[in-house]
Amino acid sequence: MMVTRLWRALEQMGGPDGFEAAGVAAFWREKIGEEFNIIKGTLLRTMPDPADCYPCLRECGCQHEVIRHDSGRIVGVCDCEEWNCDDIPLTEADLVMHELNLSKLGRAIANAFDCNAKEIGFPLQGTRQVAAFGNAALPVVLTIQRDPQELRDVIAQLGIRLRKGFVLLIPTSRLVDATVVELLSNAKAGFFDLESHVTLLPSGKLQAHRKAGELFRPYLPEPEPSASAAEAKRVIEMSSRLNAGAKVRKAPLGVVFEMLVRQGHSQEHAARECGCAPSLISARVAEIEKRMGLPLPQLKALATQLGDMELGKDSRAKSVYRKDFADYTVDDEPDE
Ligand SMILES: [Zn+2]
Ligand SMILES: [Zn+2]
Repeated sequence: MMVTRLWRALEQMGGPDGFEAAGVAAFWREKIGEEFNIIKGTLLRTMPDPADCYPCLRECGCQHEVIRHDSGRIVGVCDCEEWNCDDIPLTEADLVMHELNLSKLGRAIANAFDCNAKEIGFPLQGTRQVAAFGNAALPVVLTIQRDPQELRDVIAQLGIRLRKGFVLLIPTSRLVDATVVELLSNAKAGFFDLESHVTLLPSGKLQAHRKAGELFRPYLPEPEPSASAAEAKRVIEMSSRLNAGAKVRKAPLGVVFEMLVRQGHSQEHAARECGCAPSLISARVAEIEKRMGLPLPQLKALATQLGDMELGKDSRAKSVYRKDFADYTVDDEPDE
């Protein structure tokens, strides 16, 4: 698959006045080639005013000044000191300005990773939250910076603002150095570069090679102790619905949940008990994690806590457990 040129180009568009991704078609074509035609109608929008200068792609490499003659003729005139460029004949269409629609880009990225789009600005240049992941609404933040120091500053600021952790998306890994990695780790943040994770499809859609459920899950905050009792009850209540719906005979979800989460057995043990391949148990675990919105180790931790509650500390949790799991003992399952 071709590397999407847009990501690297965006990183080069920052300037002294911050991030500004706008230009005429010739500007975009020079940066991203054919990708301009793909994103013109999706991620870019046209600006109300035409350009008053035009990039010279020939000799001087400067911006030619746009001169409109009374005759209606439009030309881009080089005003470099050693002026050696010919005038560039232009049309109104050449001068239409296209700017990146950051909100649309954010939504497209959220969609690509399969998480909820959520736009929140920060008073930080080129930086905004574009999505929230999981029940904990882990912030997924996009930042577009041009030099390493700016990136470090943004991460330090985000670490202070988002104390429970976050996921940072950056266009490329070009600016990532040891300091950046350390700052991110201190901030309990994960980072992913769009260049190696997201591809622009010819349809204009963005495609992520791996989804948030796989990439971002390790950065979900640990549930707070006070919240986890309620969380444990929620998990137990949700687990009672695991067997609803599709009727599978081998290793039903409720049984796998009972063996792995409640009884703490290994997946190999569960495969033996259910008389199925370990890969089927792995698939069931993935499904359970997806439905519960929590990884297996956290589910186990919650189950352990619920076990403590059942030892007389919380009689209501006990009754919930009894009622929900009475039907899901392994012995009730038919043999295959
Ligand atoms: Zn020129
Ligand atoms: Zn010039």
